Amino acid sequence: MKNLFGLTLDELVAELEPLPKFRAKQIAAHIYKHGAKTFDEMNDLPKTLRAELATRYEIKAAELVTQLDSRDGLTTKFLLAFADGAAVEVVLMRHDYGNSVCISSQVGCQMGCKFCASTLNGLERNLTAAEMLGEIFFVADFLRRAGQKLDSVVVMGTGEPLMNFDALIKMLRLLHEDYCLGMSYRKVTISTCGVVPVIKKLRDEKIPVTLSISLHAPDDRLRSELMPINSAFGLKPLLAAVDDYAQSTGRRVTCEYILLGGVNDTEEHARRLAKILSGRLVNVNLIPFNPVDERSFRPPTKNAVQKFFHFLNTHGISATIRKEMGADVNAACGQLRAKQFNA
Ligand code: SAH
Repeated sequence: MKNLFGLTLDELVAELEPLPKFRAKQIAAHIYKHGAKTFDEMNDLPKTLRAELATRYEIKAAELVTQLDSRDGLTTKFLLAFADGAAVEVVLMRHDYGNSVCISSQVGCQMGCKFCASTLNGLERNLTAAEMLGEIFFVADFLRRAGQKLDSVVVMGTGEPLMNFDALIKMLRLLHEDYCLGMSYRKVTISTCGVVPVIKKLRDEKIPVTLSISLHAPDDRLRSELMPINSAFGLKPLLAAVDDYAQSTGRRVTCEYILLGGVNDTEEHARRLAKILSGRLVNVNLIPFNPVDERSFRPPTKNAVQKFFHFLNTHGISATIRKEMGADVNAACGQLRAKQFNA
């Protein structure tokens, strides 16, 4: 049976031919506006048509495997499975500025960052646009049932979104359509470890999503040790791509910086970071390392975090500290999936 979930309106029209376009529009509204899972729910379609569609098509997004709620009630983590049994992590974060979902872009990851749990078993496969949209819809439905709504999307879960570019762009364009969630591009953040040529492709798409760079080190030597991608695209071309993206979109780029105790969290590192970011249209988001069982790094001390933060802000670099959310639900990348499959 063919799955209609994840098709654009044009694709639905083509698929459902010779049905008239207004039928495809009704069906799109049921799938994307009302979260319909069956044709039976589509009560403005003739009964015979509903029955006929049900013999040929299904509407399948993602299935819940596990749900974990943080004790403070602010974070809910879901392990969701797709048709082939592949599973990914999705996190709902209830911020004071709205509800945000963090989605995965791949099953596993090939980038090999030394501190990250997502990449421990390599890349299994890319997610399709429909699967990524399915992650978002799962959480949007979950919120809708509680009388709430989804306000923003961050592509910051497992995987490197820029290594799955075509599916990512298809998903973002569909998400933005009025007949879908009508999500403003400004409410979407894409996080990348720094695949420089694809950052340029993203700019050329002219969809003004927020770009977030996983920087994590202020010099090439340390960055290449922590993140293999840096050996292919070093800091100089990466920061040039950041400037270019900021200028083209008029939007500040976020630089994520994981603080790893004793590795990249000293005042000297803060000084070098301030130096390379000086004069650039960026914000720094400091992320205290979330311990991963399989990784030997340790979190920074509270004092080191405060000093790093203070140094940047008093040296002309706007910085924030990521509020720790969901540590008790293994919310750091890949941790839930890793537990589920390696236990
Ligand atoms: N591949 C993309 C998106 C996924 S990682 C990227 O690299 O940006 C999302 C963010 O979580 C990245 O900044 C990543 O470096 C960070 N991260 C990974 N493991 C972490 C951990 N154990 N503690 C804190 N942050 C982590």
